[in-house]
Amino acid sequence: MPKIRIATDWLGGCAGCHMSLLDIDDRILDLMELVEFTSSPVTDLKHPPKEGVTVGILEGAICNSHNVEVAKQMRERCQILIAIGDCATFGGVPAMRNLCGTQAALKRAYLETESTTDGVIPDSPELGVPLDEVVGVDKVVKVDLFIPGCPPSADALFYALSELLAGRTPIVLPPHLFKYD
Ligand code: SF4
Repeated sequence: MPKIRIATDWLGGCAGCHMSLLDIDDRILDLMELVEFTSSPVTDLKHPPKEGVTVGILEGAICNSHNVEVAKQMRERCQILIAIGDCATFGGVPAMRNLCGTQAALKRAYLETESTTDGVIPDSPELGVPLDEVVGVDKVVKVDLFIPGCPPSADALFYALSELLAGRTPIVLPPHLFKYD
């Protein structure tokens, strides 16, 4: 039986959700019998393959134009899109900047901190253009499954992937696997 192909990518986040994915530990060896991770931010291949994957996983919020492009590319190239973590689910920590506005947050972070001298607000095409409002992934593309938490536990991620691989959808996470911190 051909392996199910999974691609992951990240948007505006801290990489903690990917660390939680790696925290699946030796159970990942069981998963590897059934799946192939085609690409991820922590592998040589960074982008989902053009021929597509079955499952796409996104971490992080939509904070800038680059995040929008990455989310749209993943949506176009996967059949099932999973948003992992609070940032991807509803904006999470990055969305705190919505309280003061993007420009005020950038000014405070790069020009006004007590330790800053000659600060500059980063401005590179590689970073994308900051959006006026940070949002969850589903504000930009359709999401099939949310796994909230900051980060979601490795057990929650493993449970969801195992259910998916067993063909049991829609996936309902048992309450004890939710994290609210
Ligand atoms: Fe990091 Fe938490 Fe956001 Fe995951 S949900 S990317 S752990 S801040």
